[in-house]
Amino acid sequence: MTRVRRPLPMALLACALVLSATAGGAAARPILFPPLPNGVREVRDERDVSPYLAAWKAASLRRERAAARPATLNQQSWDARWYDLDLSFAPTTSTVSGTVRMKATVTAGAVSSADLDFAAGMVVDGATSGPGATTWSRAADVLTLDLDRAYSAGETFDVTVTYHGTPTGGYFGFQMVNGRQIIWSLSEAYGARTWWPCKDAPEDKADSVTVHFTAPLGLTTVSNGTLVSTVMNGPTVTANWSERYPIATYLVSIASYPYTVTTDWYRPSPADSMLLRFWNYPESVAGVSAVQAKVKGMIAAYAARMGEYPFLAEKYGHAEFPFGGGMEHQTCTSIGAFPEFVVAHELMHQWWGDLVTCRDFHHIWLNEGFATYGEALWAESQGGYAAYKADMDQNRYLGPGSVWVPDASNETRVFDSNLSYNKGSWVLHMLRHVLGEQTFFDALLAYRATWGYKSATTENFRDACEAVSGRDLDAFFQQWIYGEYYPQYRANWTSAPAGGGYDVTLTLEQTQSWQLFTMPVDVTVTTAGGETTFVVPDSLASQQFVLHVADTPVNVEVDRDGWILKTMDQVVANPTFQKSVLLVNGVDWATYGAELTSACIDKAFWGAYGIDFWDTFAAPAGGYPATLPAPLGHGSVPGDVLGQYRNVIWLGNNYAGDLFHWQDSPVLQYLRAGGNLLLLSRQGETFLGDSLRAYLGVNWAATGQTLPDAAATRPGLAGMTRTATQSACAVFDTASATGETSTLLRTASGFTPARGIAAIRIPAAGAGPRPAGGRFAFVSGRPYRWTHANLQSNVMAILSAYFLEPVNLADADGGAPPARLAFAAPAPNPSSATTALRFSLPRPGRVRLVVMDVAGRRVRSLFDGPLAAGPHELAWDGRDEAGAFAPAGLYWARIEAAGETATRRLARVR
Ligand SMILES: [Zn+2]
Repeated sequence: MTRVRRPLPMALLACALVLSATAGGAAARPILFPPLPNGVREVRDERDVSPYLAAWKAASLRRERAAARPATLNQQSWDARWYDLDLSFAPTTSTVSGTVRMKATVTAGAVSSADLDFAAGMVVDGATSGPGATTWSRAADVLTLDLDRAYSAGETFDVTVTYHGTPTGGYFGFQMVNGRQIIWSLSEAYGARTWWPCKDAPEDKADSVTVHFTAPLGLTTVSNGTLVSTVMNGPTVTANWSERYPIATYLVSIASYPYTVTTDWYRPSPADSMLLRFWNYPESVAGVSAVQAKVKGMIAAYAARMGEYPFLAEKYGHAEFPFGGGMEHQTCTSIGAFPEFVVAHELMHQWWGDLVTCRDFHHIWLNEGFATYGEALWAESQGGYAAYKADMDQNRYLGPGSVWVPDASNETRVFDSNLSYNKGSWVLHMLRHVLGEQTFFDALLAYRATWGYKSATTENFRDACEAVSGRDLDAFFQQWIYGEYYPQYRANWTSAPAGGGYDVTLTLEQTQSWQLFTMPVDVTVTTAGGETTFVVPDSLASQQFVLHVADTPVNVEVDRDGWILKTMDQVVANPTFQKSVLLVNGVDWATYGAELTSACIDKAFWGAYGIDFWDTFAAPAGGYPATLPAPLGHGSVPGDVLGQYRNVIWLGNNYAGDLFHWQDSPVLQYLRAGGNLLLLSRQGETFLGDSLRAYLGVNWAATGQTLPDAAATRPGLAGMTRTATQSACAVFDTASATGETSTLLRTASGFTPARGIAAIRIPAAGAGPRPAGGRFAFVSGRPYRWTHANLQSNVMAILSAYFLEPVNLADADGGAPPARLAFAAPAPNPSSATTALRFSLPRPGRVRLVVMDVAGRRVRSLFDGPLAAGPHELAWDGRDEAGAFAPAGLYWARIEAAGETATRRLARVR
């Protein structure tokens, strides 16, 4: 067995450090989250919460898409100052009734009416303006009140609306939980208007809000701010809450239930304390008390970085409700999932989302990107930089789309976990390094100081960063917030003696086909005397930098510590393709070990082929299954390793960091160099970025799907059943698989039309030196959840019939010569295109390979010359010596080598 020794990759080192530094803390522990909105229940890495939280928010917003619209012209001429909600909730009739009062100040007069956002289905029973009753009119979801007189700029008008009705749209709920009544609200983004009339736009926060909620006796009503009073009135109870800090309408909330209340304290100083209050279901208290006990520490960690908790005169707390994620209601998060990083994310929103609110939902990353970044800061406070970095690695997103949301009425787009959450958090990560540690956090404090208790845009944040740093950050925000993708760097360097030391000339290229990026890039030069890190200002497609060092340079690394969202072009230089199959594991042993081990014991991923093995993860605690050879290495797979193999089988999962290793391994370059690659993975859309998806030649039809059984669409392949739920999978449009791309497997049921599960691209011209190279097959689904025998049959079919890897010549050590000349069956056979002819020599020597017709006449001489011992591959493209296509019919391929002759029959078809 060949062993490749190399240093442990950085990312793996980081993971190992996390595990030791924060045992029981921020390590990648598998957590069973409450189900997703589609009912799917999944084990997730506790640190990777964005897709989960975003899915829940997107599901809620989807309900009221039509409500998304800018403030009316009338609304732009006044400023809402104060609301009082005096409402009764009747669960038996699912109705809300009562009166909402608003005071507003005219900013551009004169104003003689006021538009309020209010759902058309709610019934208005009366209205007042100033001293007495007034009239109103309605158009769709806008209620227009006639004011008692014209008000000029600076004057304040005072109106009430009395109403009743059943809120629709899903932002408000009456339901039973554990046999008891709960009443709850979640108004983000456009839902406040479904249960109370208001100017429903985050750009206009009220200075304060008071709420009187009357609910059946026995329910405890929780809301924003502080509890002023609780008054019993026979069969009902009225709770009066007061929020004295400015608040956006979508953050005004209620939650009413026979809660069990627990109390804790956050102490900003030895002399001061703030109430923490957690309202949980009685059944939940025991299970969530440990994580809720961490909240005071989280507040302290955030306060140390982002300034004091912004609502210190009131409280922070949780109100449990039947929603899978969490909603950052001001001073009281409504929450239904209690993994530590969900709790941390929602708490971070009190600063970013509640204290500073996005002015509109185009800029939602100012809420969600910041809260997601808060997860990494919490990890850092517990496990240092390595834990921070491990968390950020989970947030890398390399796909299309801008962080800024072009269409704020597109619900799924606003709460896109990749863009608003993950890439948004990377913008802050990058900014931290661009500005430097101190300046970055100073800039956040300055942003807070200017925009706290208000609403802000990306430009407001940029201006704050520029003011503190003195830097021009226009390019930075343009490219990362309004642009798409990331830089794809290629680096080459030379050195020459100069000035008593050495000049390193670095050529840094940006090879992407999309926008160029202007970024300061760290370049670390290693010499015998140590390391020096330079920062080069890169902005062009190709740029040279001369860096002076004192000793002989031995290595140059670009952005070694991962401060830029990027890829590095790696070459697969001088591939030998001498070996047969490399199996790369990207499935986390700690979480999926039982299923993975069982599949390995059954050789589900490689069948009768001999394999070498690479593990992106560390070895499982109990050791590897006996069927696997010892791994050649861990972490990302270097190009020089890939290039030794004719075929690579990669098991992907996008769980606990394996996607990062896939992205850091030069798989596309391997394909282009002539390698064949079979990817087995769920979440295909995250593995196949634009370049790889285009290479494969499919278009996604849907992602996040639960797959049914698979049906074969090509001869030689088998249908596949499942051993467990195939959730979080992508399927493609079978119509898109044309030309060089074929569908291999499709959904057997449940999809109309049927969708593609597996596909292969066979480049007609091959790739690199290999006529049968550059072939890329993808099988959607968790590799460890297809029935082992079915999957094994298909993997072997793909390798033998499509990758043309003869199983009888397979040899884990690759290149070990056979005892006698071996000539494999031509494949494909019959063929209308290129036919691969594979053979293995017992010793070096002259080889002649010719194609003859059935009459024994030579049609084409394919090779005549010396070859090394071991396996070789040649190809016949179906042409004769003159370059014309040979007619359809039977032919013979004859090889002479090592004193032996072997013949194989092959058929040409049209
Ligand atoms: Zn959030």
